Amino acid sequence: MTTVVVGAGIAGLYAAWRMATSKAHRRSTIKLFHDGDASAVGGRLQSCACPETGAVFNMGAGRISRGQHPRASALVDALGLAVSPFEYQSDSWVIERDRRTVAQLLRERAGDLSIDARLRDCAPMNWHEEAWRVSGEFDEHGTSFVEWISGFVDEQQVRKIQDRHGYGILGNRELPVSEARRILQQHPETQHGDDWIEPVAGFQAIAQALATRLEALDVEIVHEHRLVEIAQLPGQPHRRLSFLHRTAGRSVDADRVVLAMPQQALLSLVQDFEPDVRDALQSVSPVPLFKLFVTFESPWWEEAGFCAGDCVRTDLELQKVYFRADGSALIYCDSAAAEHWARLMASDAERPGTLQRAIARQLGELAAVDADVIRVKRIHAKFWRAGVHFWRIGMSPRRVHDLLLGNAAGGLHICGEAFSPNSGWIEGALESVDALIDRLDRFRC
Ligand SMILES: Cc1cc2nc3c(=O)[nH]c(=O)nc-3n(C[C@H](O)[C@H](O)[C@H](O)COP(=O)(O)OP(=O)(O)OC[C@H]3O[C@@H](n4cnc5c(N)ncnc54)[C@H](O)[C@@H]3O)c2cc1C
Repeated sequence: MTTVVVGAGIAGLYAAWRMATSKAHRRSTIKLFHDGDASAVGGRLQSCACPETGAVFNMGAGRISRGQHPRASALVDALGLAVSPFEYQSDSWVIERDRRTVAQLLRERAGDLSIDARLRDCAPMNWHEEAWRVSGEFDEHGTSFVEWISGFVDEQQVRKIQDRHGYGILGNRELPVSEARRILQQHPETQHGDDWIEPVAGFQAIAQALATRLEALDVEIVHEHRLVEIAQLPGQPHRRLSFLHRTAGRSVDADRVVLAMPQQALLSLVQDFEPDVRDALQSVSPVPLFKLFVTFESPWWEEAGFCAGDCVRTDLELQKVYFRADGSALIYCDSAAAEHWARLMASDAERPGTLQRAIARQLGELAAVDADVIRVKRIHAKFWRAGVHFWRIGMSPRRVHDLLLGNAAGGLHICGEAFSPNSGWIEGALESVDALIDRLDRFRC
């Protein structure tokens, strides 16, 4: 029996590993294909090291919680990876800092401020708990968050809520209350908790460790193969997968196919799926994300009143700025703010320095210092058009996920972050794979 896994993100690697180490799958040959080169193993787990300081920059996933993400935590431990605490976890402290900074700026400089000083008057961070309490029973999957929250606060305050929490997606009218609730209750910036961690060697180290184990288990990892077609051969139990390798085509037959690819890639194969699967693939929407690490000639931000570990949220396009112990700063934003920086990245390709100048200008505005004081050494930026996915209004995550995992006898299975009920997280990708493996194991018993 030949199993082909497509996708070398955490879902594909973990699926291949679970199958290669399970008794039930011992007699099958497993091959894993992905469209990137060897350095892209990990998909949205991507890390690089700062050439000067050696500090690790996670360009994709950046933190997991031991309490909320038991599978991801157990995997990191099972692979023997050292972890360190994710530095920015104390919600009330962050807000205090934010308020203090605003107050400080108000003292130092009268007039218009880019940090929304009105945030000081915003309701406490747990305002939504009260709103949920008074709302009673309602269909959280079927109701838009913006429309629901507009029943409690005015439009301006809806905007403040996004700025305050640092997630622009909260202003998306397509976001159901159930998904907003997950954002508000499950991120280190929006809830209390001190159990957030990161692998010391970066998140991509999880993928690299899995890839090394797979190779030791004789699973072949085939790079630079983009899946372009899946055909069911007439009268045959197996499927033929067509890949594009550079400019040449290559076909591979498989008895079982596990597609651990994101939504966009699956939509390009839509004609190869049954109608119910085609519809199900439309159940989620992508959220653009942008991450940028910036290093400086000197830690100017200390003199501006910030400390390592501060997470400042702002209504500037910077959205969230984390000042780091290694002297760098991380800028992390989503939705319209992410698109803004993506446009500047594109301009930077034509006019080098555009992005760097815009970052320095906004940091100067944020900290109320002259942009010339901010001497940028290096920037590492990454825009993800489909960084994470959220479930659209009216969708039933469990039902769709169940459908896409497929019938164990059918031989075609879709798993990964995008269609997991816990989408947005590594944990979701792992949960989805575990559910698939349970299903395959039950079928074989
Ligand atoms: C900026 C950012 C921040 C994040 N922060 C966190 C966080 O802090 N904590 C957390 O838990 N999660 C976070 N996430 C989410 C997390 O990274 C994802 O949930 C997880 O990595 C998704 O894994 P996956 O295997 O499902 O998909 P991917 O990692 O997207 O893997 C898909 C794979 O499919 C391959 N592929 C695509 N198309 C084809 C094709 N046609 N043929 C062959 N191969 C193909 C890709 O090359 C890739 O190898 C973040 C994501 C981003 C982008």
